[in-house]
Amino acid sequence: MTTQPISTAQQVDVLILGGGPSGMAAGIALLKRNDIKVLMLERGDYTEYKFGESLSTNARATLEYLDVWKQFEASQSMQKFCSQVAWGSEDLRQLGYMFNPNGKGWVLDRSRFEKMLARAFVERGGQLQLQTQVTTCTRQPAGGWCVEVKSALGQTHTVFCKYIIDASGRRGVMRTNLNLALTVHDRLIGVGCIGVLAQGDAHSFESQVEACEYGWWHVTPMSDGRVSVVLMSDPDIANQMQVCRAEVWRALLDQMPVLGQQMKEVFFTETPRSTPCYSSYLQEAGGLDWVAVGDAVASFDPIASTGIPTALSNGIHAAFIAVDSMFSKGQLLKTYAQSIEQDFKQYLQTQWQYYQRETRWPEAKFWARRRAVVGIAKTATIVSTHYYEQKLVKAPVHLKLHEMQDLWLCCELGKSLKEVLERFALRYRYIPEQKAILGVQELIETGFLEISTEEEEDCVFFNTERLIFD
Ligand SMILES: Cc1cc2nc3c(=O)[nH]c(=O)nc-3n(C[C@H](O)[C@H](O)[C@H](O)COP(=O)(O)OP(=O)(O)OC[C@H]3O[C@@H](n4cnc5c(N)ncnc54)[C@H](O)[C@@H]3O)c2cc1C
Repeated sequence: MTTQPISTAQQVDVLILGGGPSGMAAGIALLKRNDIKVLMLERGDYTEYKFGESLSTNARATLEYLDVWKQFEASQSMQKFCSQVAWGSEDLRQLGYMFNPNGKGWVLDRSRFEKMLARAFVERGGQLQLQTQVTTCTRQPAGGWCVEVKSALGQTHTVFCKYIIDASGRRGVMRTNLNLALTVHDRLIGVGCIGVLAQGDAHSFESQVEACEYGWWHVTPMSDGRVSVVLMSDPDIANQMQVCRAEVWRALLDQMPVLGQQMKEVFFTETPRSTPCYSSYLQEAGGLDWVAVGDAVASFDPIASTGIPTALSNGIHAAFIAVDSMFSKGQLLKTYAQSIEQDFKQYLQTQWQYYQRETRWPEAKFWARRRAVVGIAKTATIVSTHYYEQKLVKAPVHLKLHEMQDLWLCCELGKSLKEVLERFALRYRYIPEQKAILGVQELIETGFLEISTEEEEDCVFFNTERLIFD
């Protein structure tokens, strides 16, 4: 694959930040037109390992639209991806694709997949610059953007462009540059390692998911015969248990009733590394001259295994939005933002349903956070608080201690829960309202607060808005 170097002060029409699945889909879709100059900047060079080794067969339509289906078939083994789960009980259940009994998927060689997309992008006239990191994006007074980039050797360059597609994954380059709030629904992390079998290879394995008190383990066979093993948990739980220490991580794996047996012959030579897996959503999905795609606009719990197909279809949408913005009235962004929001709410509902199926550890923090139900109305008023007599000392379940402390301070006598939430949101824009309500509920349960009882009608259920449960 050849990539062209950036000359100083380059001028392009569309600049794509990040060369993962969403950026590549956007770039290839844009190049269906031959009047747009597209430059893509990618921090890595496709040699670094990325988690995510399965692809739902639903992705086929998007790959066909991008005219890369033949290349995809030629570069992948097209091996069927099947999963077994011990979730809700110790018994293993066979499923099609992750938690979908009728779903189908392929084992994905992730690096080969991204290289294949990158090759197609370059062959169709796109400019790709690897090992180049975007540092700042500044809007020009006369329109368009001035973007500062840094090469692996530390050299800095400037790129001018009319439009930006932010495909930088969870890093969200535009979000951080424009200081936009990301709504973060949980703090899930994955602590994982690649393993090698003492004899044979992992092709004989199926993907396995096994729940435990402090989270869940995910084992995925890789196309090169190795196996990816990831423990999903929350950062506070993981820190307390010191799961990033190789010997602790291994001992926990060994203790798992199903996986402990199956992983006996697997060797790990690296130290487990941690990666963010939280669910998040960017309300401001774009603006007049930019749009966010893939994980940069909405990111999902790996239990859903929907990240790559969603990233690909977001990328295609973004290409239309960019063209609409540059050559027409720019009205497509609104419907895109609405569909991202609707899809995310739908996803939250599905995710919540997955976690409801595991009932073995109702008291454990990891599960209590994910199975909680909101039971108070926003019209309820605060009738008593105990600021001066008590101090919050115990780590709360739904919020961090300092967030809970501030929430408590917002709970003034006579105020409605709605007012409390509005005040709290001024400071904590990234905390979804439902989490804050769960925090108030916890203050009530632990005796720090009393509220007037209200009709149940106004209540919302867990972590999403009422309308999608109706
Ligand atoms: C543990 C785990 C397991 C998963 N398993 C699956 C799975 O089995 N199936 C599935 O479909 N999905 C899975 N996912 C989700 C999937 O990996 C993501 O949804 C998908 O990668 C999103 O694609 P993207 O292009 O938006 O972002 P990314 O793939 O993250 O690509 C973003 C790119 O931007 C680059 N970048 C970042 N910052 C900059 C910068 N400043 N300058 C230049 N470049 C930059 C990065 O190097 C990266 O290549 C999993 C995720 C995790 C964490």
